[in-house]
Amino acid sequence: MLVDEFDVAVIGGGHAGIEAALASARMGAKTVMFVLNADTIGQMSCNPAIGGVAKGIVVREIDALGGEMGKAIDHTGIQFKMLNTRKGKAVWSPRAQADKKAYREYMKRVCENQENLHIKQDEVVDIIVENNRVVGVKTRLGLEYKVKAVVVTTGTFLNGVIYIGDKTFPGGRAWEPNSTGLADFYKRHGFPLMRFKTGTPARLDRRTIDFSVLEPAPGDDPPPKFSFWTEPVGSYWFEKGKPQALCWITYTTPKTHEIIRKNLHRTALYGGLIKGIGPRYCPSIEDKVVKFPDKERHQIFLEPEGWDTIEIYPNGLSTSLPEEIQWEMYRSIPGLEKVELIRPAYAIEYDVVPPTELYPTLETKKIRGLFHAGNFNGTTGYEEAAGQGILAGINAALRAFGKEPIYLRRDESYIGIMVDDLTTKGVTEPYRLFTSRSEYRLYLRQDNAILRLAKLGRELGLLTEEQYKLVKELESEIQAWLEFYKGYKVSVAIGSDVRAYSLSQLLTSERSIWDLKELGVSVPEHPYVAEEVEIQLKYEPYIERERKLNEKLKKLEDTPIPEDIDYDKVPGLTNEAREKLKKFRPLTVGQASRIDGITPATITALLAFLGKLD
Ligand code: FAD
Repeated sequence: MLVDEFDVAVIGGGHAGIEAALASARMGAKTVMFVLNADTIGQMSCNPAIGGVAKGIVVREIDALGGEMGKAIDHTGIQFKMLNTRKGKAVWSPRAQADKKAYREYMKRVCENQENLHIKQDEVVDIIVENNRVVGVKTRLGLEYKVKAVVVTTGTFLNGVIYIGDKTFPGGRAWEPNSTGLADFYKRHGFPLMRFKTGTPARLDRRTIDFSVLEPAPGDDPPPKFSFWTEPVGSYWFEKGKPQALCWITYTTPKTHEIIRKNLHRTALYGGLIKGIGPRYCPSIEDKVVKFPDKERHQIFLEPEGWDTIEIYPNGLSTSLPEEIQWEMYRSIPGLEKVELIRPAYAIEYDVVPPTELYPTLETKKIRGLFHAGNFNGTTGYEEAAGQGILAGINAALRAFGKEPIYLRRDESYIGIMVDDLTTKGVTEPYRLFTSRSEYRLYLRQDNAILRLAKLGRELGLLTEEQYKLVKELESEIQAWLEFYKGYKVSVAIGSDVRAYSLSQLLTSERSIWDLKELGVSVPEHPYVAEEVEIQLKYEPYIERERKLNEKLKKLEDTPIPEDIDYDKVPGLTNEAREKLKKFRPLTVGQASRIDGITPATITALLAFLGKLD
């Protein structure tokens, strides 16, 4: 029965679905979001955290395109850190612990209050297609909605199966039903389906942990924020003194490893129950113990799930061991000797459609108006999901309006890198973003996300005129200062030796732009302008070198790789790269670069080994 009509339907209210639905509605498309349970919109299935290396940069890119994830975590975060600060600013990345419940409630509220966005709690079981074009969706309750475009973001729910040791049952996330109907739709239309898996640790009762023996891990002060638009507006830092929660560090012990080894056959993975492919970079503790047998201990972060809950997330301890063994295993860890589990750890296996079925706009090649985003594309992670979600939502709205879709280039965003990797190389295992996947690492930074993408955000109507005006003003100020500093020299005495130095020479890891004031240099007053000018002054020569190297790499695509190359002898390759190069044995560097998991960093290492780089 036909009940209503929309421009865009978004299937799912996870991290991909939220950004897709909000972007579409904010662009003026009448949008409907379908969810299996309206109370779990924005639920964090696994770790209560947003950001991290490369992922934090994606959150800022989403923010620059008018998305919500950055604002949500700024409002609900309980601890904020800038990662990689021992390295140069070009590779910094923000990460925050979230109050999981507050995050979910924030996202639900935003969706509920969004003009043009309608929420329906029902399972979409079919997508109606006429002449290879989406025309509607059908729900479990038999209702039909006419739509012009659909974004599918079913996450871990499609044919999801949960494993706790040898116990297995259908589910899309702990104690939530899975969805099944859409699998038939995909089979009918000739889409291949793959099985992927992931896992999550148990949640621990904080009252049963001995914190006195644990190492505290505090947040940063001032803490980094994710959105340019939360207070103080026009900056990526909170004011100093923000109240923050503590996390703690502990380690596994030889006893932990012994318990795991002894019960390996009882885990869902090693016991042979799970066939799906798991995330290489979020391995379960049993995976770590098997793959690194000589490692005496693995670091574990104990992270609170919120301000007003006793649940603690033990980051690094996901497992599919039976629950009774989980108790034993967790209790073999310092500080956790008497720990009680609130929710057991589990693994989940689910259906994904290979992302090579998509154009870089995230629209399927087979059916016009059908878009895919999030875990359903074989990625893992909230941020990866949200990054794809906003792009798919934008393009679904554009499709509904009959306008040209957009895509994001590799040299303008990490979202562009991810989508290009996914749609050209496909996935053989859950895809996670890393900075090494980018050949523009020094340019695609956390600090300049707003400068890179605000123009597009404004053109799409996702940033307001006022927001864009502020970005333009700051950008002009940055340019004016860089111009002013061109050729600028400062005389500095080191002992009796007085020499003139350029500002990029003076800006070292120990000396910030603010310290130049002491040397009589006038510096920008606006904190964002000052930081950006400092970073650009410091990194411009390296960015230029990166650009030239990329040009050179493109020209070297046809370089042959000797058939008898011994990849074990190539320095600087990751285990993943070595494994995949040995498996595929590409004949040219260009061919190697198109293998899933082969990053630009691998290509550089390979070319250096072949003597092609100076
Ligand atoms: P989800 O957040 O899964 O959201 C899917 C949404 O689709 C839900 O709202 C659901 O109700 C809805 N839905 C599904 N089917 C239908 C339908 N037919 N009709 C209507 N609504 C539907 N990520 C990591 O980075 N590291 C990890 O270690 C990690 N571990 C995980 C462990 C577990 C056990 C789980 C479940 C997930 C884990 N993840 C992990 C993945 C993380 O949860 C996802 O990356 C992220 O949630 C993906 O967002 P999404 O929007 O694609 O899907």
